[in-house]
Amino acid sequence: MDPQRSPLLEVKGNIELKRPRIKAPSRLPLSGSRLKRRPDQMEDGLEPEKKRTRGLGATTKITTSHTRVPSLTTVPQTQGQTTAQKVSKKTGPRCSTAIATGLKNQKPVPAVPVQKLGTSAVPLMAGGKKPSKRPAWDLKGQLCDLNAELKRCRERTQTLDQENQQLQDQLRDAQQQAKALGTERRTLEGHLAKVQAQAEQGQQELKNLRACVLELEERLSTQEGLVQELQKKQVELQEERRGLMSQLEEKERRLQTSEAALSSSRAEVASLWQETAAQAALLAEREERLHGLEMERRRLHNQLQELKGNIRVFCRVRPVLPGEPTPPPGLLLFPSGPGGPSDPPTRLSLSRSDERRATLSGAPAPPMRHDFSFDRVFPPGSGQDEVFEEIAMLVQSALDGYPVCIFAYGQTGSGKTFTMEGGPGGDPQLEGLIPRALRHLFSVAQELSGQGWTYSFVASYVEIYNETVRDLLATGTRKGQGGECEIRRAGPGSEELTVTNARYVPVSCEKEVEALLHLAHQNRAVARTAQNERSSRSHSVFQLQISGQHSSRGLQCGASLSLVDLAGSERLDPGLALGPGERERLRETQAINSSLSTLGLVIMALSNKESHVPYRNSKLTYLLQNSLGGSAKMLMFVNISPLEENISESLNSLRFASKVNQCVIGTAQANRK
Ligand code: ADP
Ligand code: MG
Repeated sequence: MDPQRSPLLEVKGNIELKRPRIKAPSRLPLSGSRLKRRPDQMEDGLEPEKKRTRGLGATTKITTSHTRVPSLTTVPQTQGQTTAQKVSKKTGPRCSTAIATGLKNQKPVPAVPVQKLGTSAVPLMAGGKKPSKRPAWDLKGQLCDLNAELKRCRERTQTLDQENQQLQDQLRDAQQQAKALGTERRTLEGHLAKVQAQAEQGQQELKNLRACVLELEERLSTQEGLVQELQKKQVELQEERRGLMSQLEEKERRLQTSEAALSSSRAEVASLWQETAAQAALLAEREERLHGLEMERRRLHNQLQELKGNIRVFCRVRPVLPGEPTPPPGLLLFPSGPGGPSDPPTRLSLSRSDERRATLSGAPAPPMRHDFSFDRVFPPGSGQDEVFEEIAMLVQSALDGYPVCIFAYGQTGSGKTFTMEGGPGGDPQLEGLIPRALRHLFSVAQELSGQGWTYSFVASYVEIYNETVRDLLATGTRKGQGGECEIRRAGPGSEELTVTNARYVPVSCEKEVEALLHLAHQNRAVARTAQNERSSRSHSVFQLQISGQHSSRGLQCGASLSLVDLAGSERLDPGLALGPGERERLRETQAINSSLSTLGLVIMALSNKESHVPYRNSKLTYLLQNSLGGSAKMLMFVNISPLEENISESLNSLRFASKVNQCVIGTAQANRK
């Protein structure tokens, strides 16, 4: 505090400083709690003016005292002078001088001047009512007044001191307040900084949020697009749904109709079931009868075959081929049977003139007529189908479980291969016995499958040349060469024979058989040489293993069908010079003749029921031993050339065939298990 300044002045300055704060709400610590309230909430509901007065209680007293204290003692120094001047005008020069002196001495209440002023001041002290002026001589009275005045002044001084003290206290309070306010300000500034930082952070967040908002708006627009698209789809789907609903309704209607139909059908089915059961019973009965009939058929069929003979011989004369000399008339005659020309021919007459006899007698001898009778004779014009028709029933015996063996015997060029395999060019009309027999077997097996029979067929095709066995179905590196094959028993103690190294091919249709015949033909062609028509010098044996079973009745049957194209039966001309080729030919011929005569001997032995049957004397009879004999059926084709030059060989063949034809091999037994 400026010591030069009057405490009153200081107070006034304080009051003036505080005034605006009072007008505006402040956060001063002293009155903070109160000032935070609105004026209308103030304590005791005081008027702001009153409150101000209350807060500055000492000042109020001062103000009050102004009324009692002459104004010159309370005004601030600067104004005091002016006031003093004004007073001096009223009180006179003496008073003004006293005041000026008092002020000059910096004493609040100067003693002496006040005494001087007393006269002029009394009226004022009396509240405007001037005391009666003492006469000049009344010094005692004047002194008394002055003493009273002095006493009042002293009291006043004391009062002022107290006030001063109070004011100083207030000042301290105010300073403390200011300090507190400063602290508060700093705190607030700190707060403010924090708030600003928060605000900046908020701004940043706001910025981020705006970016977010933008992004979200973008996404929103995308989503809206999607939503629109989905809505479109929804509309479409609803449309589709409506369509489907209508379809569903339609279907439901149909379903109901169908259900109605179904229930009526069920009733129908129930009655049909009953009918079917009755039919099934009938069918079973008929099947039983059919089976009995089938067995009866087999028995009768076999009886018929036996009546026809278990060894049958058919003679077939081939036609004269283009380019061949026409034989003389009467060379071969086919006399009618007892039933006349309508009967199938069974007889053949061969007329031969013996040149040696003619030479001896000197005159040409009449031709010798040789008559032969066979089970059937096929003159040159007979077709393949006609021939097959005769053997179809025999072939079928193989399905019934009887071994069947068909030979083609005759000299080279007499038509054995033609009969067995067929003519050239793949003409179906010229198809031989092998493809026809297999086709027939497949079709009968198919028919029998309706009666519960299941058949399987396995084919093999071998060639026996010079007592060696070769596989005609060989493929790959063995093709045409064919490693040596051996005939062996299928297993220890087994009657069944098998050819080692030979292929056994399962067949079930004509195409497969055709392919096998083609392969055999190729294999033969590879082995053929210029000097030696090997196929004519070897026996070709096509064998079909047939096995059938009737699973529901537990029946099985198995048999083999053998179709043998024998080697040419011609003999070697003894007059021929024996060169190296001829020697080889001689060896071949001897092997062939040996095997063919063994075949004849085997048939004879079987016919004569001899204890020893020489099967092992040739590879051919050894291989075929299960297809000959007791339970087998045999058919021999004797193929004859119509040419005059072949008449001698034809006669030989016919003689051999006649011998065979005289044979009767015991009753065949079906090979049933
Ligand atoms: P083989 O096998 O006995 O030596 P082939 O079967 O080869 O005799 O026949 C010799 C020729 O005679 C062949 O050209 C064949 O086509 C022909 N041939 C044989 N028999 C007949 C026939 N019945 N009808 C027509 N041609 C036949
Ligand atoms: Mg041939």
